[in-house]
Amino acid sequence: MMTNSILSVRRVSKVYHVKQGIFAGKLPLRALQDVDFSLDHGQVVGLVGESGCGKSTLAKILLGLSMPTEGEVYMHGKPIRDIRVQERAKIIQPIFQDPFSSLNPRKNIAQIVGLPLLLRGFEGAEIRSRVGEMLERVGLPQRTLGSFPSQMSGGQRQRVAIARALIAKPQILICDEPTSALDVSVQSQILNLLRELRTELNLSYLLISHDLSVVRHMSDRVMVMYMGRIVEYSDVETLFETPQHPYTKALLETILPPSPGQGLPKLQLRGDFPNPIKPPSGCAFHPRCSLAQGKCQNVRPVLEGSEVHKAACFFKETIN
Ligand code: ADP
Ligand code: MG
Repeated sequence: MMTNSILSVRRVSKVYHVKQGIFAGKLPLRALQDVDFSLDHGQVVGLVGESGCGKSTLAKILLGLSMPTEGEVYMHGKPIRDIRVQERAKIIQPIFQDPFSSLNPRKNIAQIVGLPLLLRGFEGAEIRSRVGEMLERVGLPQRTLGSFPSQMSGGQRQRVAIARALIAKPQILICDEPTSALDVSVQSQILNLLRELRTELNLSYLLISHDLSVVRHMSDRVMVMYMGRIVEYSDVETLFETPQHPYTKALLETILPPSPGQGLPKLQLRGDFPNPIKPPSGCAFHPRCSLAQGKCQNVRPVLEGSEVHKAACFFKETIN
């Protein structure tokens, strides 16, 4: 496969089978549908959408923790299913939302951060020096080497998780809601750290958040997901200035104050996120969309546009 991309996702779909009620059989839940994108060297791609839209399902597939039902993920042009787990771990590492549950409570910080090196057969002295350097790099004092996760704050634990992910010098971090479990005051510190590390180490990130303001200041490109599909894909400035999907516009209105004299936002999100087992016909967003017309109930708009800006809406040209 010819590509400069470090990670390519080609038409990935994921179907879970879920039981509804005690007597009912299992029903298909389409958590991801036809997801297609690439991550280039040193690039940050943001992924936003409401809870339950499929973000973590995609993260798990990229990390090889879950298999796609259809489609393929390539790393440096090679299907990840053909790359051994240890090899993958040298290229791609996760940062999860809750650093507490992802850190072993019985190991101290030196052991947690050093484990990936130990597993690869590094000597004790080399491990100690690299762990010490990494701790400094993520802003943790050396005295925390002997601490246990329970003795640290949420922000410190997320720094430990970042140190552990980076110790093996990966090229890609999959950051799944990396700041959602943290106090607001700590969130920006962790985002700043991720931003510095990205530049310094020339890392690529998939930065996942339900909050558009989290991805805004770090991403080069942003994908907006609704019910398992990418509904808009754009560079970050264009997305904020001229969004083409009414869902993106509604998400923006939740984070940006309305301009003076404009009155109430026109595209407020109506109603709740639909039941993913019974997705709406046509455009899945139509029941909540103030622009929806008859066509939207019957026909699903495809994601199309230019290389740099695509949206799946019949009214994308007229929305702004
Ligand atoms: P997000 O991370 O955007 O909140 P998820 O990827 O976790 O969304 O979930 C997407 C959809 O798939 C949800 O409807 C969720 O309930 C469902 N889902 C996630 N994991 C499983 C699973 N292991 N089995 C069945 N359904 C699942
Ligand atoms: Mg999630």
